[in-house]
Amino acid sequence: MNNKINLLGLSHESLVDFFHNIDQPSFRANQFLKWVHQRGCLNFDEMTDFNIPLREQLKEIASIETPKILESSLSKDGTEKFAIKLNSGSIVEMVVIPEENRNTLCISSQAGCALQCTFCATGAQGFDSNLTSSEIIGQLWLANNFSTNKRKITNVVFMGMGEPLLNYENVVESAQIMKDQNAYGLSRKRITISTSGIVPQILNLPNDIDVSLAISLHAPNDDLRNEIVPINNKYPLKELISSCKTYLKSFTNKKNITIEYILIKEVNDSLEHAKELSKILNHLNCKINLIPFNPFDGCDYERSSDQDINAFKSFLMKKGFIATVRRTRGDLIDGACGQLVGNLNKATKGKKLIKHKQII
Ligand code: SAH
Ligand code: SF4
Repeated sequence: MNNKINLLGLSHESLVDFFHNIDQPSFRANQFLKWVHQRGCLNFDEMTDFNIPLREQLKEIASIETPKILESSLSKDGTEKFAIKLNSGSIVEMVVIPEENRNTLCISSQAGCALQCTFCATGAQGFDSNLTSSEIIGQLWLANNFSTNKRKITNVVFMGMGEPLLNYENVVESAQIMKDQNAYGLSRKRITISTSGIVPQILNLPNDIDVSLAISLHAPNDDLRNEIVPINNKYPLKELISSCKTYLKSFTNKKNITIEYILIKEVNDSLEHAKELSKILNHLNCKINLIPFNPFDGCDYERSSDQDINAFKSFLMKKGFIATVRRTRGDLIDGACGQLVGNLNKATKGKKLIKHKQII
């Protein structure tokens, strides 16, 4: 370990402060962002538009450190899951999901999660630590430089391990780097923060960053949601939905938010639930993304039948909602939503992998 400042996770604003502190002009920040995030350079010696004394000084006081890839597994559908080792020794996972017109990275914001939703493998594991901004943006850097498909990431979703709004500052700073034209230049529509509903931070977001927001709702009434998404006991549905409306009003350019709703057999998937859901979402501008439950060891829930999923979706569409069903990707490598645990033994369930390699 050293006391050098890791520049990887600093946004433009933080880099300007850093360079000012060593009597350097502001434009150094953009030069640095381009070297690291656009050209993939992690070595001060290669930054040829920095003079040699500056490079030497940077080597003395700063570092550019990504988290480390421990291993990766590639699914037949092209989905690739990476186990990432943090400085603290904890392991998190990220997943690259290629599609024809986009290449999405699902990243983790925390090692584990404290919120204990009953359908989530990460929640079952408990909370370990918050990722630093370097560890969050480091996942995007690694995916761009080491994915087997060699494609650049076009979309980022904070839907890996952890609750992003409980690691607010680091998530915001890393998202600022994602949006920065001198770094990744991803538009606000191509970055999605998914939250189980941390109301005060939903209300804060418009002051700090403009990205897309997805709410993990999963139940249409407080009784059921208190049980399966326990944070609902603290921020009940009425408050949550009202915070979403306030959030949307804070932007002039935002049409809607996404409502995520897992479908779990005989828990939340009846037409009565669909009816309740349509009522509580009635005056909220949203599109609804239905997620068939992804099973994992130690959880008794089952995925709803295709027939029930379609009936649920049709009901919502008849009520005038935009409703889609999320295609499950990467489940053969335990890389689908809610299956991420950062557990190496699980990540290497040999027979399911068609490839398994050591990268760094
Ligand atoms: N903590 C945040 C983001 C990570 S979870 C949140 O809860 O939104 C990302 C998405 O995966 C959420 O919508 C979550 O509810 C969903 N998810 C969790 N476990 C799942 C499972 N077993 N099957 C399908 N989706 C799951
Ligand atoms: Fe945490 Fe999200 Fe999993 Fe709930 S669904 S336990 S908030 S990661």
